[in-house]
Amino acid sequence: MPFSKLGLSDPIVQAVNELGYTRPTPIQAKAIPLVLEGRDLIAGAQTGTGKTASFVLPMLEKLDTGRKRRAKRIRALILAPTRELALQIEANIKNYGKHTNLVATAIYGGVDSETQKQKLIEGIDILVATPGRLLDLAHQRAVHFDELNMLVLDEADRMLDMGFIGDINKILERLPEQRQNLLFSATLSDSVRLLAKTAINNAAEISI
Ligand code: AMP
Repeated sequence: MPFSKLGLSDPIVQAVNELGYTRPTPIQAKAIPLVLEGRDLIAGAQTGTGKTASFVLPMLEKLDTGRKRRAKRIRALILAPTRELALQIEANIKNYGKHTNLVATAIYGGVDSETQKQKLIEGIDILVATPGRLLDLAHQRAVHFDELNMLVLDEADRMLDMGFIGDINKILERLPEQRQNLLFSATLSDSVRLLAKTAINNAAEISI
Protein backbone atom coordinates (compact mmCIF):
# COMPACT_ATOMS: atom_id res chain seq x y z
CA MET A 1 0.00 0.00 0.00
CA PRO A 2 1.50 3.41 -0.91
CA PHE A 3 1.71 6.31 1.54
CA SER A 4 -0.84 8.33 -0.46
CA LYS A 5 -3.54 5.71 0.32
CA LEU A 6 -3.19 6.43 4.05
CA GLY A 7 -4.73 9.88 3.65
CA LEU A 8 -1.52 11.90 3.51
CA SER A 9 -1.30 14.75 1.03
CA ASP A 10 1.33 15.53 -1.62
CA PRO A 11 3.86 17.60 0.38
CA ILE A 12 4.18 14.79 2.93
CA VAL A 13 4.11 11.90 0.44
CA GLN A 14 6.72 13.64 -1.71
CA ALA A 15 9.06 14.04 1.27
CA VAL A 16 8.90 10.34 2.21
CA ASN A 17 9.36 9.34 -1.43
CA GLU A 18 12.47 11.50 -1.62
CA LEU A 19 13.81 9.66 1.44
CA GLY A 20 13.38 6.43 -0.51
CA TYR A 21 10.51 5.02 1.55
CA THR A 22 8.36 2.99 -0.81
CA ARG A 23 5.68 1.74 1.56
CA PRO A 24 4.57 2.31 5.14
CA THR A 25 5.89 -0.01 7.85
CA PRO A 26 3.23 -2.00 9.79
CA ILE A 27 3.05 0.51 12.65
CA GLN A 28 2.70 3.36 10.14
CA ALA A 29 -0.07 1.56 8.24
CA LYS A 30 -2.00 1.05 11.49
CA ALA A 31 -1.34 4.36 13.23
CA ILE A 32 -1.48 6.99 10.49
CA PRO A 33 -5.19 6.57 9.51
CA LEU A 34 -6.24 6.56 13.19
CA VAL A 35 -4.25 9.70 13.98
CA LEU A 36 -5.66 11.46 10.90
CA GLU A 37 -9.17 10.56 12.14
CA GLY A 38 -8.37 12.36 15.37
CA ARG A 39 -8.27 9.27 17.60
CA ASP A 40 -6.19 9.03 20.76
CA LEU A 41 -3.71 6.18 20.52
CA ILE A 42 -1.67 3.84 22.71
CA ALA A 43 0.94 2.10 20.58
CA GLY A 44 3.34 -0.66 21.53
CA ALA A 45 6.29 -0.29 19.19
CA GLN A 46 10.06 -0.52 19.50
CA THR A 47 12.66 1.76 17.99
CA GLY A 48 13.52 0.70 14.46
CA THR A 49 9.92 -0.02 13.45
CA GLY A 50 9.34 3.38 11.87
CA LYS A 51 7.38 4.60 14.91
CA THR A 52 8.61 8.19 14.61
CA ALA A 53 7.07 8.69 11.18
CA SER A 54 3.87 7.06 12.42
CA PHE A 55 3.19 10.09 14.60
CA VAL A 56 5.17 12.79 12.76
CA LEU A 57 3.57 12.30 9.32
CA PRO A 58 -0.08 12.64 10.45
CA MET A 59 0.93 15.46 12.80
CA LEU A 60 2.43 17.41 9.88
CA GLU A 61 -0.67 16.66 7.80
CA LYS A 62 -2.98 18.00 10.48
CA LEU A 63 -0.94 21.12 11.26
CA ASP A 64 -0.13 22.14 7.69
CA THR A 65 -2.98 24.60 7.47
CA GLY A 66 -1.11 27.85 6.87
CA ARG A 67 -2.07 29.07 10.32
CA LYS A 68 0.08 31.89 11.65
CA ARG A 69 2.67 31.14 14.33
CA ARG A 70 2.49 33.17 17.52
CA ALA A 71 5.39 33.84 19.87
CA LYS A 72 5.83 31.16 22.58
CA ARG A 73 2.61 29.37 21.57
CA ILE A 74 3.18 25.83 20.35
CA ARG A 75 0.56 23.71 18.60
CA ALA A 76 2.02 20.25 19.12
CA LEU A 77 4.27 18.81 21.82
CA ILE A 78 6.37 15.65 21.69
CA LEU A 79 7.87 14.54 25.02
CA ALA A 80 10.94 12.31 24.79
CA PRO A 81 13.23 10.83 27.46
CA THR A 82 16.63 12.02 26.24
CA ARG A 83 18.37 14.81 24.39
CA GLU A 84 19.54 12.30 21.76
CA LEU A 85 16.02 11.10 21.03
CA ALA A 86 14.66 14.67 21.03
CA LEU A 87 17.29 15.72 18.47
CA GLN A 88 16.59 12.65 16.35
CA ILE A 89 12.84 13.38 16.30
CA GLU A 90 13.54 17.04 15.43
CA ALA A 91 15.73 15.90 12.51
CA ASN A 92 12.98 13.54 11.32
CA ILE A 93 10.36 16.32 11.46
CA LYS A 94 12.64 18.54 9.38
CA ASN A 95 13.03 15.80 6.75
CA TYR A 96 9.37 14.78 6.64
CA GLY A 97 8.17 18.39 6.77
CA LYS A 98 10.53 19.90 4.23
CA HIS A 99 7.69 20.68 1.78
CA THR A 100 5.53 22.25 4.48
CA ASN A 101 6.37 25.51 6.20
CA LEU A 102 5.98 24.11 9.70
CA VAL A 103 8.72 24.91 12.19
CA ALA A 104 10.00 22.44 14.79
CA THR A 105 12.64 22.66 17.46
CA ALA A 106 14.02 20.47 20.24
CA ILE A 107 14.67 21.66 23.80
CA TYR A 108 16.49 19.64 26.45
CA GLY A 109 18.49 20.11 29.62
CA GLY A 110 22.22 20.32 30.12
CA VAL A 111 22.68 23.34 27.88
CA ASP A 112 22.01 27.05 28.26
CA SER A 113 18.33 27.84 27.71
CA GLU A 114 18.67 31.31 26.11
CA THR A 115 18.80 30.05 22.51
CA GLN A 116 15.84 27.76 23.22
CA LYS A 117 13.83 30.68 24.65
CA GLN A 118 14.71 32.85 21.66
CA LYS A 119 13.45 30.18 19.24
CA LEU A 120 10.19 29.97 21.18
CA ILE A 121 9.78 33.74 20.92
CA GLU A 122 10.34 33.57 17.14
CA GLY A 123 7.51 31.01 16.87
CA ILE A 124 7.44 27.21 16.83
CA ASP A 125 4.68 24.89 15.60
CA ILE A 126 6.04 21.60 16.95
CA LEU A 127 8.12 21.41 20.12
CA VAL A 128 10.13 18.29 20.96
CA ALA A 129 11.18 18.37 24.59
CA THR A 130 12.59 16.45 27.51
CA PRO A 131 10.23 16.85 30.49
CA GLY A 132 12.50 18.65 32.99
CA ARG A 133 13.63 21.44 30.68
CA LEU A 134 10.11 21.94 29.34
CA LEU A 135 8.69 22.33 32.84
CA ASP A 136 11.47 24.77 33.69
CA LEU A 137 10.69 26.92 30.62
CA ALA A 138 6.95 26.70 31.32
CA HIS A 139 7.56 28.03 34.86
CA GLN A 140 9.50 30.90 33.33
CA ARG A 141 6.56 31.63 30.98
CA ALA A 142 8.83 31.03 27.99
CA VAL A 143 6.29 28.62 26.47
CA HIS A 144 2.47 28.71 26.44
CA PHE A 145 0.15 25.80 25.79
CA ASP A 146 -3.21 27.46 25.15
CA GLU A 147 -3.03 26.72 21.38
CA LEU A 148 -1.78 23.16 21.82
CA ASN A 149 -3.95 20.49 20.24
CA MET A 150 -1.68 17.46 19.99
CA LEU A 151 0.51 15.64 22.53
CA VAL A 152 2.87 12.71 21.92
CA LEU A 153 4.55 10.76 24.73
CA ASP A 154 7.38 8.94 22.97
CA GLU A 155 9.21 6.06 24.61
CA ALA A 156 6.88 6.39 27.59
CA ASP A 157 8.43 3.38 29.35
CA ARG A 158 11.88 4.97 29.24
CA MET A 159 10.54 8.28 30.53
CA LEU A 160 9.04 6.43 33.50
CA ASP A 161 12.26 4.44 34.09
CA MET A 162 14.16 7.72 34.18
CA GLY A 163 11.86 9.10 36.89
CA PHE A 164 10.02 11.71 34.81
CA ILE A 165 6.52 10.85 36.02
CA GLY A 166 6.30 13.86 38.38
CA ASP A 167 7.40 16.29 35.67
CA ILE A 168 5.08 14.70 33.10
CA ASN A 169 2.09 15.01 35.41
CA LYS A 170 2.90 18.66 36.07
CA ILE A 171 3.13 19.29 32.33
CA LEU A 172 -0.19 17.48 31.72
CA GLU A 173 -1.89 19.78 34.25
CA ARG A 174 -0.88 22.77 32.15
CA LEU A 175 -2.24 21.50 28.82
CA PRO A 176 -5.69 22.29 27.41
CA GLU A 177 -8.20 19.47 28.02
CA GLN A 178 -9.23 19.38 24.37
CA ARG A 179 -6.32 17.76 22.61
CA GLN A 180 -5.31 14.60 20.76
CA ASN A 181 -2.98 12.27 22.69
CA LEU A 182 -0.62 9.63 21.36
CA LEU A 183 1.52 7.38 23.53
CA PHE A 184 4.31 5.20 22.14
CA SER A 185 6.17 2.67 24.26
CA ALA A 186 8.28 -0.42 23.64
CA THR A 187 6.48 -2.13 26.52
CA LEU A 188 2.93 -1.55 27.73
CA SER A 189 3.60 -2.24 31.43
CA ASP A 190 1.22 -1.42 34.30
CA SER A 191 2.99 1.87 34.98
CA VAL A 192 2.75 2.87 31.30
CA ARG A 193 -0.96 1.99 31.34
CA LEU A 194 -1.44 4.10 34.45
CA LEU A 195 0.22 7.06 32.73
CA ALA A 196 -1.97 6.43 29.67
CA LYS A 197 -5.05 6.55 31.90
CA THR A 198 -4.04 9.96 33.25
CA ALA A 199 -3.15 11.46 29.88
CA ILE A 200 -5.54 9.80 27.47
CA ASN A 201 -9.25 9.22 27.02
CA ASN A 202 -10.77 6.46 25.01
CA ALA A 203 -7.64 5.49 23.13
CA ALA A 204 -7.38 3.00 20.32
CA GLU A 205 -4.66 0.48 21.17
CA ILE A 206 -2.30 -0.93 18.56
CA SER A 207 0.86 -2.92 18.73
CA ILE A 208 3.16 -4.61 16.28
P1 AMP B 1 12.23 4.71 13.98
O1 AMP B 1 11.64 3.40 14.44
O2 AMP B 1 11.21 5.79 13.91
O3 AMP B 1 13.43 5.09 14.78
O4 AMP B 1 12.72 4.50 12.46
C1 AMP B 1 13.74 3.58 12.12
C2 AMP B 1 14.34 3.87 10.74
O5 AMP B 1 13.47 3.46 9.70
C3 AMP B 1 14.68 5.31 10.49
O6 AMP B 1 16.00 5.38 10.02
C4 AMP B 1 13.71 5.75 9.41
O7 AMP B 1 14.30 6.69 8.56
C5 AMP B 1 13.39 4.47 8.69
N1 AMP B 1 12.01 4.40 8.15
C6 AMP B 1 10.88 4.85 8.75
N2 AMP B 1 9.80 4.57 7.99
C7 AMP B 1 10.24 3.93 6.87
C8 AMP B 1 9.58 3.40 5.70
N3 AMP B 1 8.27 3.46 5.56
N4 AMP B 1 10.35 2.82 4.77
C9 AMP B 1 11.71 2.75 4.93
N5 AMP B 1 12.39 3.24 6.01
C10 AMP B 1 11.66 3.82 6.97
